Amino acid sequence: MSCTVLVTGGAGYIGSHAVRELQQHGYDVIILDNLSCGHQDFVDKALGAQFIEGDISDRALLNHIFATYPIQAVMHFAAYAYVGESVKNPAKYYRNNVVGSLTLLEAMVAAQVNKMIFSSTCATYGTPDALPILEESPQHPINPYGQSKLMVEQIVQDFTEAYGLQSICFRYFNAAGAHPNGDIGEDHDPEPHLIPKILYAALGKGEGITIFGTDYPTPDGTCIRDYVHVMDLARAHVMGLGYLLAGGGSTNFNLGTGHGFSVREMIQTARQVTGQPIDCVECDRRPGDPPVLIADYTKASNVLGWKAQCSDLKTILDDAWAWHQKRHIIHDKD
Ligand code: UDP
Repeated sequence: MSCTVLVTGGAGYIGSHAVRELQQHGYDVIILDNLSCGHQDFVDKALGAQFIEGDISDRALLNHIFATYPIQAVMHFAAYAYVGESVKNPAKYYRNNVVGSLTLLEAMVAAQVNKMIFSSTCATYGTPDALPILEESPQHPINPYGQSKLMVEQIVQDFTEAYGLQSICFRYFNAAGAHPNGDIGEDHDPEPHLIPKILYAALGKGEGITIFGTDYPTPDGTCIRDYVHVMDLARAHVMGLGYLLAGGGSTNFNLGTGHGFSVREMIQTARQVTGQPIDCVECDRRPGDPPVLIADYTKASNVLGWKAQCSDLKTILDDAWAWHQKRHIIHDKD
């Protein structure tokens, strides 16, 4: 029997990869995206998926969607996700990420759709006391982005208790890489993230690479992150959906590799992968950045059977490099 999944933010970076993975596993997909960060061409390439341009805050539209399609589950990716921007403009984050998610959840309850996979983040942990980070580790976000995601986790938990929602909150560590077919990948404007910025620099584009802080308590003084391939994240979503459809109870999972890499290590590996010198300058810390974030993914492994399969740094950078080269050649022709 086919199963229809509503994917909010399905034209965005992680959402578009999840759409492909869902389609590959035979799910019918409805994409809802306001295209504020997403890309029309990502949707066009998702052959067979129904695309609705609109906002998660539009309750009338949500009611219409749930009344029109036999939706059994929602994957909720639509959100703003820039740590630095959230510090400067928290209102934008609370309005969209929190109020928008609440509107979506209320519409789901009204339509009796009770399965939800929510994109949460390691930013909900703030600066962890101990590493690697377990799901039970204290959640004390240090930026409004992480705070907005934690608030939604709490709403999801309360909806589980009150309305029988069945949910998974996936706490992503640093999403990276691109689809191996080179069709979709990371493309933000402006681009705040480390790997795309490094690769733009390798292409001779962008502002060049600036290292945000070299005085962190880490071996080389730069921040350490756990980078996980977007294809591994997409795979986790399909496994998580299978778990919910089989009656699995509400829970949350870290999605990371258990290994961390510093900003300097990333730049050095990118030099090897691209063969480009990639100049960089150093500056002060970026507000809102914890020194080290590394996942313990044991729970996802035990419950879902998930483990990152293509998240080694070279595969991440090879796939991201292929994507960025292709994307920029196409854009340069426009
Ligand atoms: N970073 C950096 N220079 C940049 C962009 C990011 O040094 O131009 C650092 C940032 O401070 C963080 C790491 O790279 O420690 C990963 O940042 P990114 O924005 O990619 O992801 P985040 O961890 O904020 O989700």
